Amino acid sequence: KLIVFEGGEGGGKSTQLMRLKDWLLASSFWAQRQGGEPPVVTTREPGGTALGARLRALLLNTQDSAEVAIANRSELLLYAADRAQHVAEFITPHLEQGDLVLCDRYTASTVAYQGYGRGLDLGLIKQLNQIATAGVTCDLTLWLDLDVSIGLERVRQRGETFDRMETGEVAFHQRIRDGFTAIAAQQPTMVQIDAARDPDTVAAHIQAVIQEYLQQ
Ligand code: C5P
Repeated sequence: KLIVFEGGEGGGKSTQLMRLKDWLLASSFWAQRQGGEPPVVTTREPGGTALGARLRALLLNTQDSAEVAIANRSELLLYAADRAQHVAEFITPHLEQGDLVLCDRYTASTVAYQGYGRGLDLGLIKQLNQIATAGVTCDLTLWLDLDVSIGLERVRQRGETFDRMETGEVAFHQRIRDGFTAIAAQQPTMVQIDAARDPDTVAAHIQAVIQEYLQQ
């Protein structure tokens, strides 16, 4: 199964993903179902492969070298290249061996950021997601949702800065949140999680959702 964490900035996706992994590994519930070592792996986009790590450094400008100009369409294609490699090299092999894959961001992020955020055509993005994923869709998406200004404030408090100037703008991030809202309305397998609450409460909510999902 492929379980994806999605959402805007400062929602705590990475923290909650690791907490869910630890909980699954410790949970007798999972061990009972699988009988033995629980096969849970974690990964992220962009950056889940060696190629992806290079693309992530380019896209998020975390390299030491000077910033490289990236047009919106180029950005879209680089995220798609990251995903194509990720699906081929990591996600599909793990799904084929029956692992539970926990992934930080997937196709919905492209729709929300490059579609709603940057204004690229949603139909084209859908096609590109098809190409990049080769039809590998997520089974469940946990959308860690919170007020944009709270999320951005959390990021600032962590001391992080936004590399591409416009990505620090509230309006840009509000469009992304609106995008996730629209996606959730069309996607019954997307569960909205109120990420403004304290991390323990959010983790407990996620565990309850996963427990119910895995029991089905
Ligand atoms: O989730 P994470 O913080 O690792 O994402 C890094 C950044 O990548 C985000 O802050 C977001 O600005 C950017 N991103 C994007 N478009 C995507 C996925 C991520 O702009 N499709």
